[in-house]
Amino acid sequence: MTFEELGLNEALLEALGYMGFEKATPIQEKAIPVILKNKDLLACAQTGTGKTAAFILPILQMLAENPTDHCGALVIAPTRELAIQIEQQIQAFAYFVNLSSIAVYGGGDGNEFVEQKKALINGTDLIVATPGKLLSHLNMGYVNFKNLQFLILDEADRMLDMGFFEDITKIVKYTSNDRQTLLFSATMPPKIRQLAKSILKQPEEISIAISKPAEGVLQAAYLAYESQKAELVKTLIDQKPNYESIIIFSSTKKKVRDVVRVLNGSKYQVQAISSDLEQKEREMALRKFKSKETRVIVATDVLSRGIDIKGIDLVINYDVPSDAEDYVHRIGRTGRAQSTGVAITLINEDDMYKFHKIEKLIEKEVIKIPMPKELGSGPEWKTHTSKKRGKYQGGKRRYNKSRR
Ligand code: AMP
Repeated sequence: MTFEELGLNEALLEALGYMGFEKATPIQEKAIPVILKNKDLLACAQTGTGKTAAFILPILQMLAENPTDHCGALVIAPTRELAIQIEQQIQAFAYFVNLSSIAVYGGGDGNEFVEQKKALINGTDLIVATPGKLLSHLNMGYVNFKNLQFLILDEADRMLDMGFFEDITKIVKYTSNDRQTLLFSATMPPKIRQLAKSILKQPEEISIAISKPAEGVLQAAYLAYESQKAELVKTLIDQKPNYESIIIFSSTKKKVRDVVRVLNGSKYQVQAISSDLEQKEREMALRKFKSKETRVIVATDVLSRGIDIKGIDLVINYDVPSDAEDYVHRIGRTGRAQSTGVAITLINEDDMYKFHKIEKLIEKEVIKIPMPKELGSGPEWKTHTSKKRGKYQGGKRRYNKSRR
């Protein structure tokens, strides 16, 4: 479906054109009409589905049609990074509409706090905020959300995991009862249902199903420091002489080159595949892999979607993919069409929360295997988020003052 068919106005269509968005994603197709009808929404959708545009676009349209002097929309997001990302998307979409936005998060200096305060008092149209910092502004008494038309909670499950339930409840109390509320969450555990019940009014529900890994894939993980990974991969491959076809996925071209460098001294054939290669070279490399001339390929995600190479024995995720859908696509290269396969993920200390999130989405706890003794011990498995919360609340903030 096109965005025009979804009823978006010319100004937004023009911005979408510049951004190269041609067709709406499933969540956009389902959510935009509901939001434009002024209904509350409970949406189960993960990062990567296009959920951000699904709520920003209709809200920009409605705010542009009904301008106010007060803050019109408030988006609450769990982390500084996500708040910045959402506000950047708002700026891009709002290029041809006369609306202002600001990202409010912690860690800045006193001047920045004053600037945020000014923006909140003056009624910036769209506020994107992390809960803790917003609450400190609200507690000072100068923010008026009584005319707020839209409240959006993004990644609500993550916010609850980070211990923000009470903060959110407090923030909601500052807003008008007539508001339209949208709640987006990657998962729907009972505590999200409970939150939804207390802040949404007769919501429409939308769920974008995520794919699940095939049953035949044996999944395992190693907790390894970054510096241990290359040697670990070498050990894993050396220990499995009967595995004829192995794919190693990495998120960056640099890491692909690093792994290839370490494996190149081995007795087997190793080939890198990334966007560094021309299409023809890629095809040639794949042909050699399919004919088992090459035993190991090391690839970025260009390979993870869609390509059906049969009979892969082992997939190694050199790092944890950014979203669960990529994880499912990567490990889907093995165990296809009833055959069994093994998928091993290497998790460093920074990727544990990300992997934990993937486990929740695929509804499976993946076994963590101890590091081989000769490589030393790896980091301990931790999924607590208090460290993250501190980390994400810090840093600089941005402020878009312009009212175009
Ligand atoms: P999100 O799930 O909101 O984090 O979006 C994931 C990515 O998809 C972002 O980089 C968006 O810019 C992009 N995106 C969202 N909707 C569309 C669309 N309809 N067409 C093309 N890209 C999109």
